[in-house]
Amino acid sequence: MEINVNDRLVMKKSHPCGSNIFKVTRIGMDFKLVCEGCGHEILIPRSKAEKNIKKILETDGE
Ligand SMILES: [Zn+2]
Repeated sequence: MEINVNDRLVMKKSHPCGSNIFKVTRIGMDFKLVCEGCGHEILIPRSKAEKNIKKILETDGE
């Protein structure tokens, strides 16, 4: 699974605010994701993030 910075991820588990779309802002051992619903930043281990991804929405020209 290839994930890039600025990709938007549709997650299986939604954030408490109700949104299940997160934008990737940093990739490494952990992924840094920003919730599109409330702007909250989360840091989760790569393996856990990958298991939770339902779909990747690629962004154009960003
Ligand atoms: Zn949220």
